[in-house]
Amino acid sequence: MGKTMDEQERHKRKAQKQKEKVDANVARAQIEKGVMIVVTGNGKGKSTSGFGTVARCVGHGYKAAVVQFIKGKWDCGERSLLEQHDVPFAVMGTGFTWNTQDRAGDIAAAESVWEQAKKFLADPQYHLVLLDELTYMLGYDYLDKQEVLDAIKNRPENQSVVVTGRGAVRELRELADTVSEVKEEKHAFKAGIKARKGVDW
Ligand code: ATP
Ligand code: MG
Repeated sequence: MGKTMDEQERHKRKAQKQKEKVDANVARAQIEKGVMIVVTGNGKGKSTSGFGTVARCVGHGYKAAVVQFIKGKWDCGERSLLEQHDVPFAVMGTGFTWNTQDRAGDIAAAESVWEQAKKFLADPQYHLVLLDELTYMLGYDYLDKQEVLDAIKNRPENQSVVVTGRGAVRELRELADTVSEVKEEKHAFKAGIKARKGVDW
């Protein structure tokens, strides 16, 4: 009985200490500005995370824009939903897929979709811009790295950016405020389970 009281007391003290820590951190965070988030790594969940953030943004009545740097499936679920909520999509229609053979064609396609991305990144009406799979464009030198970094760095102060894709280059990670590395522990595909509509796209 006495022991149980002790445990309760200890738990209470621990919780109190934790609360003080969190409160202090909350009090310390005083800067109001848009953030740059990089979600990279080999595990599943990067684009899902980016689109989740777009949903949050739109749910609060803010404007968001999406740029997809990989030739996407036409019936991407997020696109069908978000376009109904006036979220503009710039999609790489031709060119780069996962196993491309046509470098010149890929670069042209990348540059064309990047032109649209630049417009979003310069427009303060967008609270959030998702640059889905942008990492590959820098990894493969399809876009000018400095130009991309500058456009992100010089975006409107209140605009946030989410960059997704595997293998984010060092400069993207350095520029970011938040970097998450999604680690693969297992993936259904490796057990022979097909990618699923409504789950994987
Ligand atoms: P998601 O779009 O599901 O969040 P992702 O953006 O983290 O995935 P990508 O590298 O962009 O991952 O992969 C695109 C597609 O490959 C998606 O259909 C995704 O479900 C699938 N996928 C993601 N990670 C893996 C993995 N480790 N092995 C096999 N397939 C994967
Ligand atoms: Mg992805």
